[in-house]
Amino acid sequence: MNISWEEIELYLRHTFVTARESKKNVKRVIVKLEDDGFYGLGEAAPSPRYSESVETVKNFLNEFNKLISENMSLYTTLQMLNNLNGNYSAKSAVDIALYDLHTKKLNLPLWQYFGLTSDKIINTSFTIGIDTTENIERKLDEAHEFKVLKIKLGCEDDIKIIQTIRRYTDKPLRIDVNEGWKNLNKAIELIKYLEDNNIELIEQPLPSEMLYENNRLREQTTIPIFADENCKTFEDLILVKDYFDGINIKLSKCGGIFNAYLMIQVARYLNLKIMLGCMIESSIGISAAAQLASMVDYIDLDGNLLINNDPYTGVICKEGELKLINEPGIGVMKIEK
Ligand SMILES: [Mg+2]
Repeated sequence: MNISWEEIELYLRHTFVTARESKKNVKRVIVKLEDDGFYGLGEAAPSPRYSESVETVKNFLNEFNKLISENMSLYTTLQMLNNLNGNYSAKSAVDIALYDLHTKKLNLPLWQYFGLTSDKIINTSFTIGIDTTENIERKLDEAHEFKVLKIKLGCEDDIKIIQTIRRYTDKPLRIDVNEGWKNLNKAIELIKYLEDNNIELIEQPLPSEMLYENNRLREQTTIPIFADENCKTFEDLILVKDYFDGINIKLSKCGGIFNAYLMIQVARYLNLKIMLGCMIESSIGISAAAQLASMVDYIDLDGNLLINNDPYTGVICKEGELKLINEPGIGVMKIEK
């Protein structure tokens, strides 16, 4: 098996603003595994929030390259990968490429390999970043085909943003605060305001270290509270189950498809609601995650829709609904220029 990788830069349609950061572009690493005339593709979407970057990804891939040899089975390679420390976005890229390669050899779509269906309707939310009233109105126009919106909050104008949206649409909203409400009393005030606003869930309202306060906040609301920054990997589930109603699983946080599949099974057992989410990423990362979409309660796989130079095509989004295609592997192709 031969491994190679390439750094790419993805440009956002709109400057993407959250409670944590503002960005116009992101760097990603595309991994290619080749074996026996077949190839598999994967993508690393490293986040500085978890101390990862394209440099840490490339360093990891260099180390991993020294460990692989001819004729290693899928599960031996996955096991070896997961025995290495940290570097979850890099592991995710290799894991996705491994599954893509393996299921292409078997001539099976990945969802079918896992015994899943492509029939279930998968509505993804569409994300609207923090912005001015005027820009939010324009973005709402652009998002008209989506049945549910994900709204970034965690700034001075949170109430104003919701008022702007509610003048325009009564669609269900998912709120993502990205740890932006730093004060419990203020958070209680805001959540009480959101209570009657058709809110499906609130993601990571408080900083990850404010777990005690998170439970105080939960006592004040009927809106389910989901962990994102508090729930990276499988190991976090045991702690998270006592402090949250649900979790946001992302391949780049947990180390890929194998780990996400396990996390979904265990989260179910722990009575946690499950969202499958993403970073800003190309159709490789999004199509890989979409393979597991029929297993979860909420889908937030719009990272490829927020960029204007996706080099790949894979899972199709039509009227806000993701359509898995009947192609082997994760069903991704490079767009020829
Ligand atoms: Mg989030």
